[in-house]
Amino acid sequence: MAVSAANLRLKVIIIGAGPSGLCTAAALSQDGHSVTVLERRRDTQPLGHAVVIQPAAVRALQYLKGADRAFSRVSVDAGALRWWSYKGTKPFATPTAAEALSCAERRFQTDRPSVQKVLHELAVANGVDFLFGRVVQAVEDLKVKPRLWTTHGENFTADLIIAADGIKSTTRKILFPAQDVDPIPLRESIFLTSAPVSQLARDARVAPWLEPGTKHGILGPDRFVLSRHTHGGLLGVQFIDVDHADPGPVNGNWNTPADIGLLRTRFSDFNMITRAFLEHIQHAEKWQMATGPELDTWRSASGRIVLLGDAAHAMLPHGAQGLSQGIEDALSLARMLRRASNSSAKGVGIPAITKAWVNLRKPRTNIFVKQSTSNAKIWSLPDGPEQVARDERIRRTETLPPADLNHVKMDMAASRKSPQFLKWARDYDVVLELFELFTGQPPFETLITPAILIGQMHEMASDDLPE
Ligand SMILES: Cc1cc2nc3c(=O)[nH]c(=O)nc-3n(C[C@H](O)[C@H](O)[C@H](O)COP(=O)(O)OP(=O)(O)OC[C@H]3O[C@@H](n4cnc5c(N)ncnc54)[C@H](O)[C@@H]3O)c2cc1C
Repeated sequence: MAVSAANLRLKVIIIGAGPSGLCTAAALSQDGHSVTVLERRRDTQPLGHAVVIQPAAVRALQYLKGADRAFSRVSVDAGALRWWSYKGTKPFATPTAAEALSCAERRFQTDRPSVQKVLHELAVANGVDFLFGRVVQAVEDLKVKPRLWTTHGENFTADLIIAADGIKSTTRKILFPAQDVDPIPLRESIFLTSAPVSQLARDARVAPWLEPGTKHGILGPDRFVLSRHTHGGLLGVQFIDVDHADPGPVNGNWNTPADIGLLRTRFSDFNMITRAFLEHIQHAEKWQMATGPELDTWRSASGRIVLLGDAAHAMLPHGAQGLSQGIEDALSLARMLRRASNSSAKGVGIPAITKAWVNLRKPRTNIFVKQSTSNAKIWSLPDGPEQVARDERIRRTETLPPADLNHVKMDMAASRKSPQFLKWARDYDVVLELFELFTGQPPFETLITPAILIGQMHEMASDDLPE
């Protein structure tokens, strides 16, 4: 069990052992809190495909002991995207070697089963209790000790309940009964496929996708394709069909085995490399896409039940940010809860902390929600002037040397392609941001080094968080 870094040892229940719940559990138990995770599945669900952990989430993981080394072991060279037209025989935009190196250095390119395994092992090592096969069916928002019930008839109380129960969150529906907080299913479906690189290597037609340290985006009308390497010698390829079909019901099964014949037909006008890859595929999963509802807040009236991860801010995967934002949520909440106390002389109450945490996190995640939706539109434009202008823009920006952002000031309100926005998206440190929350000073405008800042945060006097 970790030595307590927190003012107070809290009893915390987390609903859901997805990446966000696992990361929160590991971070809170590292600080000495007593954490129980309730998960409806029988295990940590070792299914899924390639995922990228973005630079700001990689930074956040530095505050979780052992995470950096464990993720490095299950990650491959991320590289930077090479862009193709669906009709092209070679990429129309290839990033410089320096840009590819800079992308690789900052990200973990891995796969969902590895993410689940790493975070679960860290949580177990830190002393988290896991109860699998438990479906949470009700929560009660009481002022001091909120409660929940499982379908087994068990009930639990805690100082804080964290609902990391995903895009279809039951807790969200219970907390906001007067609002329509169902997820919003879309016409878009993604077909997830993978094949061993060793098998594909026998086919010269797919050779460009197999080059280590490369990933590829192939853009066509209403559809696009993304290929990337994953741990274990696999090439993971997503086929995104933005206008696939009428969406199924909200409560339907969104992940089903795909009809490979239909997939090949749907992408039959794509270039040789795409069609050749599809010849090697015997199995694919079809994932119906949806976005989360826009919420006014992520916390209950008492401030002692919060939504976190996809339950709070589900987004399309086209910014590769969903899981990464869940990691930022986890580490920031854990850091803020270090200051929790029953006595206002010594620290801050949980409701004030959860309020400040939602205020910190919501504006940032809102931007990635919007960006993910807009990327899908931009990458699937029909042939025509807009598509030509898009390709030209990609060619111009993606082939520049990596921007030197050292002296650039972060600005989330700047235009999406500006260095100020790029710095905010990429170099943001969610734990350093808390310094600003506690002191009113932007951390990056001080002359103090990050290490000193973090030290100071630990030492800081117990003044109240802003309401
Ligand atoms: C195709 C695809 C590619 C993606 N690629 C990336 C990427 O490259 N980078 C990135 O950052 N993000 C990516 N994402 C997004 C990322 O996968 C999600 O944002 C992430 O999985 C959300 O994690 P979560 O823990 O919040 O929710 P989930 O993963 O949905 O986990 C929720 C957990 O709660 C459990 N649960 C639900 N209800 C209950 C209940 N009532 N009682 C008990 N347990 C319950 C569920 O069983 C589940 O285990 C991608 C998504 C998709 C679909």
